[in-house]
Amino acid sequence: MSPIGIFGGTFDPIHFGHLRTAFELMQVLKLEELRFVPAGDPPHRGVPLAAAGLRLEMVRAAISGQPGFTVDDREVRRDGPSYTVTTLTELRAESPRQPICLVVGMDAFLGMDRWYQWREILRLAHVAVAHRPGWRSPTEGTLGQLLAQRGTSRVADLLDEQAGRVFVHPVTQLEISSTDLRDIIVNGRDPRYLVPDAVCEIIRRTGCYSQQATR
Ligand code: ATP
Repeated sequence: MSPIGIFGGTFDPIHFGHLRTAFELMQVLKLEELRFVPAGDPPHRGVPLAAAGLRLEMVRAAISGQPGFTVDDREVRRDGPSYTVTTLTELRAESPRQPICLVVGMDAFLGMDRWYQWREILRLAHVAVAHRPGWRSPTEGTLGQLLAQRGTSRVADLLDEQAGRVFVHPVTQLEISSTDLRDIIVNGRDPRYLVPDAVCEIIRRTGCYSQQATR
């Protein structure tokens, strides 16, 4: 059974680093669907600059027209911190037999052992880790051990089981971050070619990142 991919993030704003990573993982893992799940209230970081509804709108605009890419707004609708384990528990109940692959960048993976109920996450889903410029795979500690025990580079392993494997994949390295984008915009520079044109247009129309210095 083809897996479903879940790509969580703050997406403040979504950019081509997210989109290309999602696209390459969708192809290599032969995902039936890659679902973007913007966090309403991300627990491991400060409050996002753009409102949740606007981040959702930017994700919708960014993925428009790409078959297989979808948006799931459950974390934005849910009250309280956006715990990944809660989302995966719901998705597992909705798709009891389908493999689920949680997509994360290497920087996010390196902090995963501090996530709420992180071991439960591995019982609910595989984790597909995309390399990201400036970050290296863990070789020691809890996550190094996890990789040694559960790591795989074989896509077939993700189809044989519904959850529990860690797949590390070298996607095209695009050194783009939402933090840098917010800086670019607040400094009056143009984010064009780092984010889709439709996202540029929403940022321009709403002025959502123009006031960063005053927040
Ligand atoms: P910020 O700079 O605000 O922290 P970000 O650019 O890291 O934002 P997030 O929305 O926090 O974006 O990231 C969502 C997910 O996408 C994370 O798992 C992150 O590791 C991954 N990701 C973000 N940018 C890239 C990139 N350029 N290449 C690969 N993965 C990325």
